Amino acid sequence: MSLDFFDYRVRQRDYLLSIAQALVSRLNLRAVLRLILQGAVDLLQGQVGLIALRTAGKTFTFWASYGLPPAMVTSFESLVEDVPDVTSPADFFIPELGERLGEIAEETGLLLRQVVALPMMVEPQSLISGISRRAGGRTQELLGVIFVFRSHSLHFSLDDRQVLASFADYAAIAVNNARLYETAVTERRRMDALLDVSADGIMVLGPDLNVTRINRTLSTLTGWPGEEAVGHPYDALIVWARRNSERTLRQVLEAGWPARIAGTDAPLWQGRPLYVEGELRRRNGSVVSVGITYAPLLARSGRLLNIIAIVRDITRFREADALKDTFISIVSHELKTPIAIVKGYAETLSRPQAQRDPALMKEMLGAIVEESDRLASLVDDLLDASRLQAGGLPFQDIEEVDLSAVARHVVDRYRPQAQHPLVLDFPPDFPAVEGNPRRLEQVLDNLVSNAIKYSSPGGEVRIAGQATPAEVTISVHDSGMGIPLEEQERIFERFYRVESPDTRAVSGTGLGLYLTRAIVRAHGGRIWVESAPGRGATFYVVLPRQTGLALWEESSNHES
Ligand code: ADP
Repeated sequence: MSLDFFDYRVRQRDYLLSIAQALVSRLNLRAVLRLILQGAVDLLQGQVGLIALRTAGKTFTFWASYGLPPAMVTSFESLVEDVPDVTSPADFFIPELGERLGEIAEETGLLLRQVVALPMMVEPQSLISGISRRAGGRTQELLGVIFVFRSHSLHFSLDDRQVLASFADYAAIAVNNARLYETAVTERRRMDALLDVSADGIMVLGPDLNVTRINRTLSTLTGWPGEEAVGHPYDALIVWARRNSERTLRQVLEAGWPARIAGTDAPLWQGRPLYVEGELRRRNGSVVSVGITYAPLLARSGRLLNIIAIVRDITRFREADALKDTFISIVSHELKTPIAIVKGYAETLSRPQAQRDPALMKEMLGAIVEESDRLASLVDDLLDASRLQAGGLPFQDIEEVDLSAVARHVVDRYRPQAQHPLVLDFPPDFPAVEGNPRRLEQVLDNLVSNAIKYSSPGGEVRIAGQATPAEVTISVHDSGMGIPLEEQERIFERFYRVESPDTRAVSGTGLGLYLTRAIVRAHGGRIWVESAPGRGATFYVVLPRQTGLALWEESSNHES
């Protein structure tokens, strides 16, 4: 063994070692390729080296050069002009390599007599599925070509080719790693974007149930910033104020979830998801209704890799549920009373004694008519409310409406039964507004009947009107129980009633003001209340004097 040979081996080992180090450290691809090229040129006693990589369009671009002024690199392009796309290193060749080299040497004036070119090949891997797409086991993908040039006329030997092949392998690994890394980064970006646009909260847990990442929605929902949540056990974020399911994820996991479905060939990552529902306590102490689906991600061996948790805010479903309950209880209560009265009177009337007393008969029939009217108007309100929910109240018949006359009409209707002084306060020249007379009467009727319902007998109810050139304002004032400030917005919501013994003593559905506000808004107007508990209430309705049908339809959609 000559000293030269020994020295050569040492240098080869040193190069391969530093290349291996460069590969594992995160050096950029160009730097790694240059290092590889330098080693190859040096060990093969060449003078010039080039690495060309195949780009997406299957053409080649030079990525690293050695021993060449950069400006000269383009002169070598003919070498990679029509490299055949091979699937095995054995098939690789570059047509007329010798002639091309001659032309390049002539063009550049460089003394280049010999060239060796070897393919850089890898077995393609699909990063996403982790499953090799190898067809027939040996199909490889051509990533690039490594060239070494000599200025002396010594031919490259088989040994030389083997040395270069090991460098080509390293170069292929470097390129492949860079490519996989890039794919991984792109995938991750895509995943981040997907996670972040999701309206559901999403969290990925490790097998130890620690958080590995959470998306923006879940950050907002829980109050945990993403970076801070990572590394915490999942139950630091998922804190239940109340839980509908018996067991937590941790308990279910300890009990053996997710069990593999024996005897099936179902993809293992589809292990059965687990659903938990309840009231989640946020970091700031407030509570939100959520439903969480935990989906296990299993390795092929069945080992648990991750759990993906989808956290959905179900407040709206809960509210809808609560509303349905309210609806049923209100409607049944409100329907029962008049039906019982009608039935009672009808039974009495069917007895012969009653028929002999015309005055009693008249009184009872009157009561039956009155209760039937109440039932009919309750049904009307319910229908209106459901139409409104479905996208607006259909309005037609727009006319000039004299609201002072409407107010008088409403007051006249209540006067016989009300034990309250009902006062009208309109200026004589009070102008008309454009609107639907029946619906505007419904507005005043609701406000006046509420003023009577929610104040004690004897208390004055005053309906006043004022006008400006563009608008009219109607106010309905009572000196009754009043409305606490925090309830003054909510009373306009569907089925909403103030929760107090005084209110409970008065029958009602909580639909009147909801419909009233919808009608006012459909006219392009506004409604609000000024009140304090025990100090009476004043409802204000402002309506534009002129409104077109167009405006009307448009605004009927903005019901909240
Ligand atoms: P209802 O009267 O059928 O309950 P409304 O929608 O007309 O439904 O009113 C909603 C709630 O607003 C009432 O239940 C009551 O608590 C409150 N409210 C309405 N008008 C008055 C008023 N003039 N004074 C005090 N509270 C009122």
